[in-house]
Amino acid sequence: MTSDEIRERYLSFFESRDHKRLPSASLVPAEHDPSVLLTTAGMHPLKPYFQGREQPPHHRLTSCQKCFRTPDIDQVGLTTRHLTCFEMLGNFSIGDYFKEGAAQFAWELSIEGFGFKPEDIWVTVFAGDEELGLGPDQEAIDVWLKIGVPRERIVLLGRDDNFWQAGPTGPCGPCSELYLDRGLDFGEEDDLPGGDNERFLEYWNLVFMQYEQNPVGTLTPLPAPSIDTGLGLNRMALIQQGVTSIFETDQFTPLIALGEELSGKRYESDPVVDRALRVLADHTRGMSFLIADGVVPDNADRGYVLRRLMRRAIVQGRRIGIEPGFLPKYAQVVRETMGKAYPELIEHADTVDMWLASEEESFNRTLEQGMRMLEDVIEQTKADGAEGIGAEAAFRLHDTYGFPFDLTVELAGERGVGVDAQGFERLMDAQREKSRAVENEDDGVDTREQLRRFASEAGAPSKFTGYETTEQATA
Ligand code: ATP
Ligand code: MG
Ligand code: MG
Ligand code: MG
Repeated sequence: MTSDEIRERYLSFFESRDHKRLPSASLVPAEHDPSVLLTTAGMHPLKPYFQGREQPPHHRLTSCQKCFRTPDIDQVGLTTRHLTCFEMLGNFSIGDYFKEGAAQFAWELSIEGFGFKPEDIWVTVFAGDEELGLGPDQEAIDVWLKIGVPRERIVLLGRDDNFWQAGPTGPCGPCSELYLDRGLDFGEEDDLPGGDNERFLEYWNLVFMQYEQNPVGTLTPLPAPSIDTGLGLNRMALIQQGVTSIFETDQFTPLIALGEELSGKRYESDPVVDRALRVLADHTRGMSFLIADGVVPDNADRGYVLRRLMRRAIVQGRRIGIEPGFLPKYAQVVRETMGKAYPELIEHADTVDMWLASEEESFNRTLEQGMRMLEDVIEQTKADGAEGIGAEAAFRLHDTYGFPFDLTVELAGERGVGVDAQGFERLMDAQREKSRAVENEDDGVDTREQLRRFASEAGAPSKFTGYETTEQATA
């Protein structure tokens, strides 16, 4: 089943069950929603309906929403299931059916529409949370038992996995996720859904919207309990197409092939190349969609997300030896694969290409300048007989000149010089602390604070351990 067929199968299934089909909204949330920078789920554009602030066009809705998840950016290329920019299929009930209806639809479509064997489906249910003052979601357990899921395939999970919030405020509630058991070829006998294993792939989340989260953190019941679900189209494609990673599905193979052609390197030949090819495929899609929705590169907010995406892609392209000026070539393939479903990509092709070309040019200049400075630092380090490049110098390159830390490590490594990565990490921590003090932390959602933190981490891999050496840096 192609990605287009999956999209159509889902939407028509729900249409034939009295749902009104809605087009995807923009990645840039509407004015009324300052809680998120970018649309991270299908329910975002529908929030006013859930909150009872606007009348929905129908009490049952279905959509395929383009989404962007900045917090997932570090996972891209390392897991088989995460993208920054992906499509989320959803069915929504605004005060109409609730837990039982949502679970029955999901079960029926999984088995009859997508061909899953009942015994391969596991579900998770909210285990309760003291701080929220909520017990286990017994109603959901009963619903799944009634459908015929045996108790041992119903797994209770806590707030992190099974309580859904679209931001610091807004409608929220417990959820129940559906996982496909991909079998022992993908993991161990004692693996369970919710662990970060390859055996159980989460493909659908059913959110039981019962509460409004208030700015002070308290919950008030919503006027009418509602349903919000999200099924990752790209994950379903992975399953339907019998491949092991989202990057081997039909929307991505042309982009991976382009990277192979431009770099002269083969996919699945070397983990560093693989990651670069995947990051390039994911990020070039993301940047195309963001620009088509009116985002322009900038140093703050969503413009920063875009800039960061471009720079990460440029660094990865460089790493595997792709000649400069490649971003627009990727954008062309993004249009070929996605333009039919998302005509805005074609409509704004010139704008997309213009921004990609100009950002690539200017970042390449930054890189050239950073590299000259790095040369000086390396010479100085050698002249001083120092153990490696000091944390301050690496931090200055990163913070003041926008030169990515991993490039510093890599290029210095090629010259046989280490970098004080632990010291660098400490300086990064200090900087993070500063911005954290300004606002409270809010994990797991795409808030402004998270973006600021993300910005301050520009270029740095998430973990550093001691002095990096030449061996690790030859890639
Ligand atoms: P995971 O635990 O795998 O990170 P999630 O619980 O964060 O997923 P949800 O917020 O429940 O995901 O989103 C609903 C659905 O959207 C998921 O079940 C999955 O199919 C899909 N999805 C979520 N994040 C991504 C992503 N980064 N890339 C591709 N698909 C995703
Ligand atoms: Mg996630
Ligand atoms: Mg999850
Ligand atoms: Mg989930």
